[in-house]
Amino acid sequence: MSQSCDVIVIGAGAAGLMCAASAGYRGRSVLVLDNAKKAGRKILISGGGRCNFTNNDLSTSAFICSNPHFVKSALSRYTAWNFIDLVERHGVAYHEREHGQLFCDDSAKDIVDMLHTECDWAGVKIQLRTEILSIEKADDGRYHLQTSQGALNCESLVVATGGLSMPKLGATPYGYKVAEQFGLKVNATKAGLVPFTLQQHDKDKYADLSGVSLPVRISTESGVSFKEALLFTHRGLSGPSVLQVSSYWNPGEAVSINLLPDTEITETLAAMTESSPNQALKTALARVLPKRLVEIFYADELLPECTLKQLQHKDLNDISTLLHNWQVKPNGTEGYRTAEVTLGGVDTNELSSKTMEAKKAPGLYFIGEVMDVSGWLGGYNFQWAWSSGWSCGQFV
Ligand code: FAD
Repeated sequence: MSQSCDVIVIGAGAAGLMCAASAGYRGRSVLVLDNAKKAGRKILISGGGRCNFTNNDLSTSAFICSNPHFVKSALSRYTAWNFIDLVERHGVAYHEREHGQLFCDDSAKDIVDMLHTECDWAGVKIQLRTEILSIEKADDGRYHLQTSQGALNCESLVVATGGLSMPKLGATPYGYKVAEQFGLKVNATKAGLVPFTLQQHDKDKYADLSGVSLPVRISTESGVSFKEALLFTHRGLSGPSVLQVSSYWNPGEAVSINLLPDTEITETLAAMTESSPNQALKTALARVLPKRLVEIFYADELLPECTLKQLQHKDLNDISTLLHNWQVKPNGTEGYRTAEVTLGGVDTNELSSKTMEAKKAPGLYFIGEVMDVSGWLGGYNFQWAWSSGWSCGQFV
């Protein structure tokens, strides 16, 4: 005997729970299925446990998608302000950090609890520890699912299974398989918002800098750049600036790092030369950069052993190029193991930007990270989950 409902949502993550509540409030009978033991596991660990749930400065340019116009409709139907209003109505305390990022004051659990409450109020049923064994579309247009907990059928099937990042949290390629089963194109995926790894000899060279952070501007060869902190790690480079550019970086490319994005080193050295002409260049540079990094540049013979007053015009040019345009060639990224998002996914040209319904498979919908939409660091990925989930919930 197959259990019937109007809507089945596969995936009890950010997008799935939002969509379920949105549809439930419209009077639809909604069942959310997830193979995990807990709903919203990624939300719980997000933003260092405080969930950067949206961004005050939501711009469509902060989204990466093969069709850049695709995100506009959902983001304008359900905006950051709609989500902030929801958070406030549930009494979740939050604060703003730099770049308009909004975080919970206490815990990301507040957001998961809020979504559970919304689902309860909307009459949504959530069934965890459920494996989907097969999906078929019957002649009557309904979707029939065989699951580890029995047979189910629905009029609208929403796939909200997320991307591939953090497999230890239960990420699976299941959503892509469903898309392919119904003839939809899935664009190649890769890890995004992810630390860079370095060649072994570079790793050894910068090992002592592990834990050191400094403000920089990093640019990719294609000219995309971000000004944020860089963090040296024992595997390579991380920090917000690296995570941001990683989504635009291609294997084999170098990145250019401006180690002093707020000053011009030649001007700084000119001022220092006036006040302390006999100071060693090395000592002077260690006042504006991490000392260990300066020592590494000296060990690599990239800087001259001289005093400030001995600096020649050519020396100043070389120093400026090195410090404002330091070239680093990552040998890869840490991959899905630590990535915050998956780039690529279900091709948005296959979907309606208003409803998220598959053009080739009426009644089948894709929302959240499983789609070929990713955002910058800063709450954009959750906002996409809320916006795509809520918009879809209005039509299923
Ligand atoms: P998910 O939240 O991943 O949910 C997918 C759900 O589908 C999961 O519950 C999973 O168990 C279920 N599922 C998967 N496969 C199956 C299957 N075969 N059968 C049944 N169920 C299945 N974004 C931000 O905007 N701000 C942040 O602060 C932030 N921090 C992050 C920190 C980390 C460490 C990570 C990894 C990501 C972070 N992100 C952040 C990104 C954000 O978590 C995701 O973009 C967002 O969770 C995507 O929502 P989703 O609902 O599409 O997918």
